[in-house]
Amino acid sequence: MIKERNTKQKTVILSAVRSAKIHPTAEQVHAMVLADMPNISLGTVYRNLNHMAELGQIRRISVTNSPDRFDGDLSPHHHICCSECGEFNDRFDLPYDKSLDTLAEKKTGYKITRHETVFYGLCKNCKKSIKN
Ligand SMILES: [Zn+2]
Ligand SMILES: [Zn+2]
Repeated sequence: MIKERNTKQKTVILSAVRSAKIHPTAEQVHAMVLADMPNISLGTVYRNLNHMAELGQIRRISVTNSPDRFDGDLSPHHHICCSECGEFNDRFDLPYDKSLDTLAEKKTGYKITRHETVFYGLCKNCKKSIKN
């Protein structure tokens, strides 16, 4: 019974992260899965997310001055974050620089699997409201 419940929790949480385009925080994932599992606690959601990130099923993204976010899209891509309103988006149009991985391998002796870049700045809306 417990095993079945855990499997359902995993399935629902994983599909919530994958379908969300907002790179949700654990709290946002919790809010999304409550419709399917009204009794699930934030702690359980958090544990599941961490476990999935360790298994490589989703990615955890650390964001300066705000809670970690989770990404269901595993393809290499960059992110952009507005430091004013916290908007957080994918940028598939910015090139992934493979030569940086090669350089990091040379310098560190690591076998590099990937790198991630988060660009910080002001989104169009915040840029406008700050000018006025
Ligand atoms: Zn903004
Ligand atoms: Zn992303």
